[in-house]
Amino acid sequence: MSRTDVSLGRGRGLGLSELAPRVVQSEIRAMTAECDRMGGVNLAQGVCDTEVPAVVMEGAMRAMRDGHNIYTRMDGIARLRRAIAVKVALTHGLEVDPEREVLVASGATGAFHAAAMALLNPGDEVLLFEPFYGYHVSTLRSMRVVGVAVALREPDWGLDLDAVRAAITPRTRAMVVNTPSNPAGKVFTRAELEGLAAIAAEFDLFVFTDEIYEHFLYGDAVHVSPAELEGMRERTILMSGFSKTFSVTGWRVGYLVADAKWMGAINYFHDLLYVCAPAPFQHGCADGLEQLGKTFYARLAVEHELKRGMLVDALRAAGMRPHVPDGAYYILASMAHAGLEGDTAAEKARDLLARTGVAAVAGSAFFAPGHGKGEDLLRFCFAKKDEDLMEACRRLGGLGS
Ligand code: PLP
Repeated sequence: MSRTDVSLGRGRGLGLSELAPRVVQSEIRAMTAECDRMGGVNLAQGVCDTEVPAVVMEGAMRAMRDGHNIYTRMDGIARLRRAIAVKVALTHGLEVDPEREVLVASGATGAFHAAAMALLNPGDEVLLFEPFYGYHVSTLRSMRVVGVAVALREPDWGLDLDAVRAAITPRTRAMVVNTPSNPAGKVFTRAELEGLAAIAAEFDLFVFTDEIYEHFLYGDAVHVSPAELEGMRERTILMSGFSKTFSVTGWRVGYLVADAKWMGAINYFHDLLYVCAPAPFQHGCADGLEQLGKTFYARLAVEHELKRGMLVDALRAAGMRPHVPDGAYYILASMAHAGLEGDTAAEKARDLLARTGVAAVAGSAFFAPGHGKGEDLLRFCFAKKDEDLMEACRRLGGLGS
């Protein structure tokens, strides 16, 4: 810091940053706190408290005992970077250099933060599909980047390419594609992604992908990464992670794959924010990636499809109209006719919690504020142990009767 920096600060007084007054506690965290306080069943937060695969758990414990408790290389341990490169090659047909094009990040959240710092400037605009994942918008806002919502069409959350084009201005630098998506469970089709790829190429945009739910697919849904489409390799920042697949949301291990020319700056900012992803957990995730095969991922999808069915039935019985998701593990349900008290979705979510002990998130949390959107929706998470989900379904039953 130079002398000038110090003197500039003098006389301004103590106070929050320009950004801080706009910070509000996320509705998801607020409902979780409220639910804990009254001992309810929390279907608000996507914590997925299902079993951690033994190989992953034991790998992390062994790593700790073997002394892997110190900083790793800033982009992650070699074994995990290699395993990620192999996975990306097998699933997406992408050739990726594990030495230069893979970052083991502090969750997909850390990956996005570092990538946005490396590639975007204040005032840039970034398109997001609405309903969106709030962290994407807030992360951008924390960098003074403007998130621009492009509405997906209800009831099936179809993509309107004309609306995407209409949202583009000279300030547009990128789009965020979350597939399968939170909260809508939308799995973008290859045709939709090709449409977006054409727009990205035409307007020279980066495409940040969030593919954290890539293994949670139901019915005929197929996951396609935008990175695998023709001409997209250079402009796609592919992000995913292990939080959801291995049920280790608290471990903070995810990854980012991108063209080597962006990686120096992305790694730099990731190092600055997180130094590295937790060392022993990187080892546990490497063991998981190396040793768990197709059967594991197929079973994960089947188990969650059953949970989805259970919750869809319970929501219908409670008088709600669930949008049945093709992927991820959330259900957006219209509760307009469920008889909940309150003027807003947030109030209705609190009424639901008070009456049934089941926490959900107000749909409005996933839409741009000020347009009244999402006020008739609640989001429920079904990545829960069967006994907890059954208890939640039983409690929801009380609402319909
Ligand atoms: N991306 C999406 C769309 C999510 O829903 C979540 C968690 O709810 C995350 C990222 C967080 O991922 P991570 O735990 O890897 O930071």
